[in-house]
Amino acid sequence: MLEVSPVRAFSDNYLWLIRAPDDRGGAVVVDPGDARPVEAALEQHRLALKAILVTHHHPDHVGGVQALAARHGAGVFGPARERLPCEYRPLDDGDVVSLADLGLEFHVMAVPGHTLGHIAYHGHDSLFCGDTLFSAGCGRLFEGTPAQMLGSLDRIAALPDDTRIYCAHEYTLSNLRFAAAVEPGNADVLDTLEAVRELRARDGITLPTTLGRERRINPFLRCQEPAVRAAAEARAGTPLPGPVDVFAVIRGWKDEFR
Ligand SMILES: [Zn+2]
Repeated sequence: MLEVSPVRAFSDNYLWLIRAPDDRGGAVVVDPGDARPVEAALEQHRLALKAILVTHHHPDHVGGVQALAARHGAGVFGPARERLPCEYRPLDDGDVVSLADLGLEFHVMAVPGHTLGHIAYHGHDSLFCGDTLFSAGCGRLFEGTPAQMLGSLDRIAALPDDTRIYCAHEYTLSNLRFAAAVEPGNADVLDTLEAVRELRARDGITLPTTLGRERRINPFLRCQEPAVRAAAEARAGTPLPGPVDVFAVIRGWKDEFR
């Protein structure tokens, strides 16, 4: 099992620090939007930064990449279809990031939707998915279409139930409030909302989540469920022909939900 620590940045970002197994002393960071908290975590855990994995081009995911790469000589990996503010090894769907010295290997999945070139890193029963899947939610569609995002979520949903999902933001509580509005009869949503409310009141971290849990509580993974479909149709005031239409309605609803 991977040892992964959350590094907090900005108001609600997590920059995930992955430790090489077997005390090899090296580490990998995912989406370092800010170099400073990463430097502090490396120092605290006495780790050498060997690689940087980037999921997409937004500043809160890449802001610290250049400084960290320069200071530590760490290799940078990122999406081939986007531009990052430094040199990096471009990755596309099906590529493999093999960090043999660290005993780590990740398979790249193209997950367009939040941005067009967004990628996710899958390996060691874990998924680092940036702003694609959140606990009980999904990323906003800044560049892609509902069909693209739903296609990406469907591919993620095909991974095993026990896959640990490392999302880049602590949005779980507000997402669950929305999930409860979509599915007021979903006991898993209501129970999780209660638990997350308590956890967040103590400033606890709700991640990683698991895919099995997300299948039960995440409305964006449940577009085929009759209750989610009915809620979307009530919201739209019209019958919706398929899951992409259901997804588009609940994504638009979430954008306005307070
Ligand atoms: Zn983003």
